Amino acid sequence: MKELLLGKTTNEISAQLDKLNEPAYKGKQISKWIYQRYVRDFEKMTDISKDLRKSLTDNFEISNSSVATKIESEDGTTKYLVKLKDGNTVECVNIFQPDHHTACLSTQVGCNVKCPFCATGLSGFKRNLTPDEILDQYLLMQGQSEERISQVVFMGMGEPFLNYDATLKSVHLLNKEVGIGMRHITISTSGIIRNIEKLMNEKLQLNLAVSLHSADDELRDRLVPINKNNPLSELFYACRKYADVTKRRITFEYVMLKDINDRREDLEKLITRLKGIHCHINLIPHNPIYSAEKFEATPMNKIKEFQRVLSDAGYPTTLRVSRGSSTDAACGQLSVIQGG
Ligand code: SF4
Repeated sequence: MKELLLGKTTNEISAQLDKLNEPAYKGKQISKWIYQRYVRDFEKMTDISKDLRKSLTDNFEISNSSVATKIESEDGTTKYLVKLKDGNTVECVNIFQPDHHTACLSTQVGCNVKCPFCATGLSGFKRNLTPDEILDQYLLMQGQSEERISQVVFMGMGEPFLNYDATLKSVHLLNKEVGIGMRHITISTSGIIRNIEKLMNEKLQLNLAVSLHSADDELRDRLVPINKNNPLSELFYACRKYADVTKRRITFEYVMLKDINDRREDLEKLITRLKGIHCHINLIPHNPIYSAEKFEATPMNKIKEFQRVLSDAGYPTTLRVSRGSSTDAACGQLSVIQGG
């Protein structure tokens, strides 16, 4: 079986080259072709001798993921279905924003958390992705994009903190090999407390987002089922500590569901329970999906009022502009086109 190079650091690639009795600097050249020029064929590495290119082709493969299909939305956001070596598929999105592009990456095939308003949660869990499979989503999209994708969010399919080591390895590869600044990387978790604490101890300058969706345990047990084992009092304690130790502001994501979590009492609980946490709140208009449990989106005027009250209470609050909804590429919609 051929050794896979994608997912290895430059030093690890150089160590592989050593097996072919080639000098370490050639590992650097190859790493640059893979991570900075997004080349997926040794024959295209034009500053490498023909003999070495042949030997590389005989002994190694660059990647074993490929784009199965892609759909571009009217707003320029492009959704990709990526086929993995075992035939499973995951989705990732190149989100177009006026001043930059953001890659939204998946960390698992499916998801075990089963948030009832999320298409991925409804599709069930198959397996964790490996670091190369996570990183490759970025490289595949960047290789097909004329613009630099300068930001990365781990908000695609899966719960990154239930695949912690692979997620972190891909973060380091994105940072050190691809050149994405740590401050341009965001990991979003549904609130796996033990790994918020673990990430805190890594002392990285990346952004942490927590999908909160309710400040009431009973309601959150239903909306984010891992809440049963990761209750709000402990979650808020971990978030407060994280923000204090890292000096990084936490983002709380809050999907707005009509008459479920957008009531006056929900707002009041949120204001009370977030007190003292260095945070920012991101309100997300709900996107429709096909699910057994129907949720309706909160009307925009009510979301804006929610935002105003939170801002007046001293919480910086933004309203997420939904990108890619014309192709089911928006938040909570990944997997809708998969069809198993
Ligand atoms: S919202 Fe995130 S954590 Fe919840 S089911 Fe969907 S992918 Fe999993």
